[in-house]
Amino acid sequence: MLADEVRYPDGRRIALEYLVPHGKRDSARIPMEILKRSILWQHAATGYVYPFETYRTLCMEKSNYGGMENVGNTTIITEAALIDKDTVDARLIYAHGVIVHEYEHNHCGSGVTMESPFDMWLNEAYTVDIERQFTASVFNPAFMRLREADAIREPGGGPLAMEDTGAFGQIVRDGFNDPDELVDGVTYVKAPEVLNMLRQLLGWRVYDAGARLYFSRHDGGNANTAQFLTCFEEVSGESLDAFSREWLFSAGYPQVTARYDYDAERRELHLRLAQTRTGRGGVFTLPFSFAAVDARGNDIPGSVQTVRFDTPEAEIVLADIDEPAFLSLNRDAGFYGTCTDLSATPQQLVRQVRGDGNLFNRVEAMRRLTDLERRRLLADPLATASEPWLDLYRHLLLNTLLPDGIRGYLLKIDEQPLDRALLPYVRESFTLRQRLLRAVLADGGESSVFNALHALESRPATLDLPAAIERRSLKNALLNLLSASGTVGAHLALEEMLAGAVNITDRLNTLTAIWQSRHGDRHAILAREGERLRQTPGGYLGYLQVVGQSPRPDVFDAVAAEERRPSFSLSHPGISRALYLPLIRNNAQLWTERGLAWLTQTVIAYAQVSEYNALRLIAPCQAWQSFAPDLRDAVGAALRDMRAALSPSKCPSVAGRLDAYLAMGEKE
Ligand SMILES: [Zn+2]
Repeated sequence: MLADEVRYPDGRRIALEYLVPHGKRDSARIPMEILKRSILWQHAATGYVYPFETYRTLCMEKSNYGGMENVGNTTIITEAALIDKDTVDARLIYAHGVIVHEYEHNHCGSGVTMESPFDMWLNEAYTVDIERQFTASVFNPAFMRLREADAIREPGGGPLAMEDTGAFGQIVRDGFNDPDELVDGVTYVKAPEVLNMLRQLLGWRVYDAGARLYFSRHDGGNANTAQFLTCFEEVSGESLDAFSREWLFSAGYPQVTARYDYDAERRELHLRLAQTRTGRGGVFTLPFSFAAVDARGNDIPGSVQTVRFDTPEAEIVLADIDEPAFLSLNRDAGFYGTCTDLSATPQQLVRQVRGDGNLFNRVEAMRRLTDLERRRLLADPLATASEPWLDLYRHLLLNTLLPDGIRGYLLKIDEQPLDRALLPYVRESFTLRQRLLRAVLADGGESSVFNALHALESRPATLDLPAAIERRSLKNALLNLLSASGTVGAHLALEEMLAGAVNITDRLNTLTAIWQSRHGDRHAILAREGERLRQTPGGYLGYLQVVGQSPRPDVFDAVAAEERRPSFSLSHPGISRALYLPLIRNNAQLWTERGLAWLTQTVIAYAQVSEYNALRLIAPCQAWQSFAPDLRDAVGAALRDMRAALSPSKCPSVAGRLDAYLAMGEKE
């Protein structure tokens, strides 16, 4: 056990105990520091005072969830509760989140307990919102918000993808087959967005007063969704009926379009908004933020606003204003849904990438430009990336003024587009990305990548954890370019970097880059690294996540070989997910005949062991009816095979979900 204490500003102390497996005490030291920081930060943010004398954290080995609250005794999975040299960056960020999350449940969950399973969303919405505020205070907030946006848009388990089908996504459920179904991407990702929007609509001060009223009024008792909302209505004097009706009791998200024009004679800017939606229901009430930005990248005074948008259409007029260089809309993804700027020209998007004061929106603008390239490449198999896009990309490659994490995001070319109309091209997404990466490398581009890497590697090491994490994420974007290169020079450089990698995340990222490349020794290198990494639990989990990322058919043999090892356990959620989830994101292989056969067989086995995790494996198939006809037939057949092999009495959640997916196809 590791013991410590934390002291509130008024001097009151809480004893802190970390119960760890034998010999692991040192690995609890960083988590203990995170916990102390969390407790004081949470007190300052919410006014909560922990009512007991001791707060205990217990490590648990196997769980689908990151942790579980119990009054005064929190359990957290060992991978997140202990931090050592094998803890990867994603886990370090996750540890900050899960520690404050489980602690917050003493307040929201134990202090006030939800009345029924149908109110459970609120538990997680409020707690995840606190977790996000805390991590934004520790790390670069724009970097964290980009990660959250990735989770919202994730093509597999992300809530937007679930809601595209129109069948899922309602936060307050009407019913459920199994309690596992009450907690998913909607609960953890969409629900906190609803509170984020409520806060923007009411303002920080009023939102805070509403939350404090709720916790004081229901302290030590049960509360339901209506009682929660009543507190905010009382302090604001506003009805939340329209807001909650669409956001909590309907499935679907708003699709907002914006169009603007500038009247030079009158010096007026007209911004016209329109909203449609997915799913069934009425008009959403949402906060819409915008700013007009000048050619130097400064926000034009008086143009930075957040308005309540609760009608199908709206027009906003900004009077007596200079002509902007571009508009920056829906900064930091202020509302949950999609936002399309119909007026922005490619030239304006380039200006926005170079100069928007809002770093999140710089990345969004870059993604829009990259989507335009994807469309060109899709239409013409011989086309290459356009000059303006390449110029911009090369400018970013050398722009050291940007924060590392943001530059990493700007340079990272995902397989996933921002434009949801491009999502059905799952089979093409890998090749499209390769074509873009190779276009960057052509005509001397590869030496720019080497220069950027060299500049990054020659900077002095930083002891600041958030800075180090951002720097590694930037480096990873550069490694991805080298991986796509295929030159001897790139392969040698990757090998050298692997040999010199001290940090576990660097090591795994470099190994992934080699495994995804055309390096002649990639199998031998993977095997050699596997021997080393399997020695520790953290290294093993990290290694498993690399295996499923080969874009070639050898990925199936590699995954099967790992399954046969004695260290592998299908029933250990951390281990099995680490091996399987990368393969369901592997667009180059999943949508092949062999990939779908692998998926069918794996889901059938996995569903008997863990329905919760098997649901994650089938999630990328939910959009199957939007795929090309031959792929749609193949995925439909795979879904029917899975369904035929699973009994609804043994696997109610997976069978039910498969039925729902198949029923979507029949509607067509
Ligand atoms: Zn929770």
